[in-house]
Amino acid sequence: MIDKTVFENKIAAYYTLGCKLNFAETSTIGKVLAEQGVRKARPGEKADICVVNTCSVTELADKKCRQAIRRIGKQHPGAFIVVTGCYAQLKPEEVSHIEGVDLVLGAEQKLDILMYLDNLKKKEEGSAVIASQTKDIRTFSPSCSADDRTRHFLKVQDGCDYFCSYCTIPFARGRSRNGTIASMVKQAEEVAAKGGKEIVLTGVNIGDFGKSTGETFIDLIRALDEVEGIVRYRISSIEPNLITDEAIDFVAHSKRFAPHFHIPLQSGSDDVLKLMRRRYDTALFRHKIEKIKEVMPHAFIGVDVIVGTRGETDAYFEDARSFIESLDISQLHVFSYSERPGTQALKIDYVVDPKTKHARSQQLLDISDRKLHAFYEAHIGRKANVLFEQTRKGGMMHGFTENYIKVEIPYDGSLVNETRQVTLGSWNEEKTALNIL
Ligand code: SF4
Repeated sequence: MIDKTVFENKIAAYYTLGCKLNFAETSTIGKVLAEQGVRKARPGEKADICVVNTCSVTELADKKCRQAIRRIGKQHPGAFIVVTGCYAQLKPEEVSHIEGVDLVLGAEQKLDILMYLDNLKKKEEGSAVIASQTKDIRTFSPSCSADDRTRHFLKVQDGCDYFCSYCTIPFARGRSRNGTIASMVKQAEEVAAKGGKEIVLTGVNIGDFGKSTGETFIDLIRALDEVEGIVRYRISSIEPNLITDEAIDFVAHSKRFAPHFHIPLQSGSDDVLKLMRRRYDTALFRHKIEKIKEVMPHAFIGVDVIVGTRGETDAYFEDARSFIESLDISQLHVFSYSERPGTQALKIDYVVDPKTKHARSQQLLDISDRKLHAFYEAHIGRKANVLFEQTRKGGMMHGFTENYIKVEIPYDGSLVNETRQVTLGSWNEEKTALNIL
């Protein structure tokens, strides 16, 4: 039984680090507290409760979380600080010793937050409560968030069964699981009823959708495509071996799925892919890119790569670089390999020094800049449908085409959350978006 009086007149501030999945889950935590009457802090307002949803994807992510928690403690003196998310799940003891932390919640407990906020009494420094953690995380907690009125992030799947050699996410988020197609359609209908126009399907390994419900990813996207009111869906990062040719063909002919893909390659060297324990090779990856371009020549394809993984010799990196260069893709998201405790990658002897990692990263970023530039340039003079967003910056507003080209126009409030067909013009001054003709 929850004592509602604990939450009377309370104000909460929410902080999210890391992925879109965390953003979706923080939003759900916010809804859970709002149902108890807890109001969200306005900018600059002191909160009684601070919820920090953390990330632990790299060493740097852990460091940023520690810094953020300390900063939040100073911004909200006396507030009850709850830390959850991947860093809290993987290193609860370490988190409990960070100055100001009162409660550490694991991945399984994050959405049951009310059960743990029993008295909101500040704990003595260094004695935060660690809610009992479940190692075998199996619950699927539905979540959907909006970053503004336009775009919503719908969590369709959680966890991962892949255990790539460098990754701790399966330990932080547990085994692959998902909600039912019916529950996803219901959430999409709710978004549409509230006027939301765009939904991004998110998860840890979304191509694995259906494993825990006996359904399939293709049936999920078929069902979502029928939801009236949603203008477009985007599929966030999906493993190359799980994006089937059938799904690619479906997107090409669908009513609402955007020609926009985000596919993690991680390395363009088959030898490194083996060391990483990825489940595909470069031939399969190339086939997927070519298949997408064959049926959707203007599709935007973003690709994740990691540089400096243990075992990535100069020769392997050169293989990777030339493979990546040869792909018809639009942008690279380049990450530097980070050592994570408990991973199999630590058994590989060959270590890449930081200077080499940095140089490799620069090389790939240069390739990415060239490819993105060429992709935008190829669209100048073309017609496209742009969904305009709320954000206003320096008198300008932005929107995105179906194939993820950023468009900039002078701010016009009547266009927020509206779609318009435009002709794409030249670059804006900073070369970050296209103007319209
Ligand atoms: S697919 Fe590999 S890299 Fe991605 S979450 Fe699973 S284990 Fe980590």
